[in-house]
Amino acid sequence: MAEFGESFTAHMVTSEWTVDGGWGPLELGPHAPVSVPPSMVGLHYGQVVFEGLKVYRQADGSVGIFRAQAHAARLADSARRLVIPPLPEPMFLKAVDLLTAANQDSLPRDAGSGLSLYLRPLLFASDSSLALRPARSYKFVLIAFVTEGFFADEPDPLPVWVSPVHTRAAPGGTGNVKFAGNYAPTYWAQEEARMAGCRQVVWLDAIERRWVEELGGMNIFFVRGSGSTPQVVTPPLGGTLLPGVTRDTLLNLSGRLGYEPREERVSVSQWQEECNEGTITETFACGTAAAVTPVGTVRYRDVEWNVGTGMTGPVTADLRQLLTNVQTGRVPSPEGWIRFVPAPTPRNAAS
Ligand SMILES: *Cc1c(COP(=O)(O)O)cnc(C)c1O
Repeated sequence: MAEFGESFTAHMVTSEWTVDGGWGPLELGPHAPVSVPPSMVGLHYGQVVFEGLKVYRQADGSVGIFRAQAHAARLADSARRLVIPPLPEPMFLKAVDLLTAANQDSLPRDAGSGLSLYLRPLLFASDSSLALRPARSYKFVLIAFVTEGFFADEPDPLPVWVSPVHTRAAPGGTGNVKFAGNYAPTYWAQEEARMAGCRQVVWLDAIERRWVEELGGMNIFFVRGSGSTPQVVTPPLGGTLLPGVTRDTLLNLSGRLGYEPREERVSVSQWQEECNEGTITETFACGTAAAVTPVGTVRYRDVEWNVGTGMTGPVTADLRQLLTNVQTGRVPSPEGWIRFVPAPTPRNAAS
């Protein structure tokens, strides 16, 4: 299997926005380089937002796009924050339908293959002008690749490192939208985590450097207690967290499993103390690319602690399994979570 996001499917979908015409028609074409001017605003000033969503082979052999509407809404929110004209939701849905229908044969027929089709929508300022103002032309591109999951090659559970210095997002900033510029600034801390023998960075809040906010490019959950009704706790969205669709999904599914979902802040010292006294029994990260990824050990300054047994805990395992079952249509999900894509017509199948 190629590395995450390196081997793309045959097609892409594009559209262009102009001042006069707004968003133009969606075009399905071969996956190919996009030609841009070297003075493009998106390259210089980062007026770029994106999404990530997945298509799963369903138990009945069809294919389903998971929570497409939630991703359409979030892309529109991200676009508005960066003063990019939002792509209307019906256009977003039509684009993901078009690409999925054209490339669904790249997904194995077996719903249990563990592979999914990752869709990457991107909106960028394509204007050739270096004035410091929002661009006057934009481009939408939608590309896709088949993936096993982001952490398929990583140790399971992950050792993680809490950054005492770097932060990901500040109040009033862009931490709550999928803005391209949020990611490269995290690479340095990610390098430091690797040098400390860990795999991912835990982000603390930017003001007090105390509250656990996210883990790498994922949301974080803590499991408190054990037995029949453990609490499944995740930090509340307060403007500095990315409102993950997987986070929202897991809060919903926790209730279905009889757990008690809670949105509550957890400080790094609480995390350490509660792990040591056995109150916090599990911790995991979640996101579309990573699904549910357990945390085994935590390093913060000169201390290190285990989470639970250091192995994948039962609540993490049950949520991960239920999430997969919902995504692949083995168990029913709330109305609208799965968008079924019609089987390709013979003409599409031949292209
Ligand atoms: C995309 C992302 C997530 C996870 O969001 P999902 O919708 O679950 O994929 C979490 N944190 C950050 C910083 C992200 O970019």
